[in-house]
Amino acid sequence: MRMIFILVLVSLVAAALFILPLRARPPIRDGGRIPVAASFYVLGEFARAVGGERVEVTTLIPAGGEPHEWEPSPRAVAEVRRAALFIYHGMGLDPWAERLAATLPRSKVLNATDGLPLSRKADGQLDPHVWLDPLLAQEMVQKIAAALNQIDPLGREQYEANKESYARQLRNLDSAYRNSLRSCRIRAVLTTHAFLDYLARRYGFQAIAIGGFSPEGEPSPARMKELVGLARKMRVRAVLTETLVSLRAAEVLAREVGAKVLRFNPLEGLTLEEEARGESYLTIMKKNLAVLREALGCEP
Ligand SMILES: [Zn+2]
Repeated sequence: MRMIFILVLVSLVAAALFILPLRARPPIRDGGRIPVAASFYVLGEFARAVGGERVEVTTLIPAGGEPHEWEPSPRAVAEVRRAALFIYHGMGLDPWAERLAATLPRSKVLNATDGLPLSRKADGQLDPHVWLDPLLAQEMVQKIAAALNQIDPLGREQYEANKESYARQLRNLDSAYRNSLRSCRIRAVLTTHAFLDYLARRYGFQAIAIGGFSPEGEPSPARMKELVGLARKMRVRAVLTETLVSLRAAEVLAREVGAKVLRFNPLEGLTLEEEARGESYLTIMKKNLAVLREALGCEP
């Protein structure tokens, strides 16, 4: 009896394996939602905002994970293959996702930063941190909406409405940044890795990074000396540290130049606590604004 059961099970599994690829075309899943996979936090958040009830979004890098250093498990790869749309960031932030995307049909893949104005370092490396500029974030949201319209034309009306409402919130965020960073005594801030350039450029101050475009360990003594000089010259009064990465040099530098250490969230992922509290891109960007106002000594 048991043997028969096992035989039936094995043949069912074999049949399922054979049939599944043939049935893989319609993107709708059993629950009626369209499976969307996003490489890291911000993309998942934007996809949920635009997709609403029609989509089921999986963010591959879990809460507490740091995107620059991440590699996918076989399960994550399977999740991407099953998705009707895979959204990745590109620009060197999620190289594993770029490699994976290259193995998928083009119609299933969205590079969320394609065509955005990019900033490069002297060595040609791209700065991927576009999402911290609310207006560039808005462009990413528009791309996500266009991709969802493509894979699910029936949802167009809903996607467009969700997109408009979220884009409005991003523009309000931009206005809040513009107004509250208008009159500040200090025009520069130190950061751990180089995550703040797009935002700093948008609102007219300078971000001096201890590290490069990804967290990469402690700086050399020569670099430390250079940073101390720069920080003194620019009258820097705060070092912004991150939620997901810690850097001893940040504390040392802050002591050396008499600056405060303030916690900024570059939104490369939420911590488990932030996720549990229901934080989002918008709530954290508002907190980040308060941190920047303190760092730059802005007038009320
Ligand atoms: Zn980064």
